[in-house]
Amino acid sequence: MLIDVHSHLDFPDFEKDFDKVLERAKEAGVFAIISAGVNPESNRKVLEIAGKYPIVKPALGIYPSDALKMSDSEIENEIGFIRKSGPFAVSEVGLDGTYPEMEKQKLVFEKFIMLAKELDVPLIVHSRKAESETVEMLARLEAKKVVVHCFMGKLSIAKQIEDNGWLFSVPCIIQTSSQFQELVKKVKSTHLLTETDAPLLSAVKGKRNEPAFAADTIKKMAEIKGVAKEEMEKMVFMNYQRLFMGGPQKALNL
Ligand SMILES: [Zn+2]
Repeated sequence: MLIDVHSHLDFPDFEKDFDKVLERAKEAGVFAIISAGVNPESNRKVLEIAGKYPIVKPALGIYPSDALKMSDSEIENEIGFIRKSGPFAVSEVGLDGTYPEMEKQKLVFEKFIMLAKELDVPLIVHSRKAESETVEMLARLEAKKVVVHCFMGKLSIAKQIEDNGWLFSVPCIIQTSSQFQELVKKVKSTHLLTETDAPLLSAVKGKRNEPAFAADTIKKMAEIKGVAKEEMEKMVFMNYQRLFMGGPQKALNL
């Protein structure tokens, strides 16, 4: 049973053949797809999709660059909407060093860290070119249920993430990215999940990504860890169950 903890099924890339994409995911053995909203409009679309298709779980949030286009009161209103909507996870939120106004980004991220704690749901975090700031904030605010999506930072920061009991979601680009291969080699299997970020981050440049391709990621991870593909799949599924469905947290020392 495969898991995709980070995708964007509301993006227009899927408009034409959405049912086929989900069919292929089910055929590949995908059990759950978490689809993350990036702004108010996207959050509503994600809720609509999740309401129609039980395999899709709604994560709601405001992407860093989208937050920069919103006023403080618009952000507050959206947080109120997310609180009322009872999301499966809080995402896509985080810090991004390729965008300006890091102070505003931090203020918004802090609100989402606190929201995820209040709702007691996992926080799936974007941390591009701001990995140490992201980890510092998560630790200071004592976030517990955390998934760091598409982590591209230093291995020393990865170690802190692992030591804090947080998880990594591994994208399809592990097929060719030595950085992700190294990450999977170093991090314990109990701290690994799979994601696609579909339609983005395809293993093949220029090709649309989709949740079914999580199968290829599992294959690669199994190869790196030197275990059978079935064993890796089971491990990732158990990690998902533990974090998202409230199973025993013991293995993560939380
Ligand atoms: Zn994303």
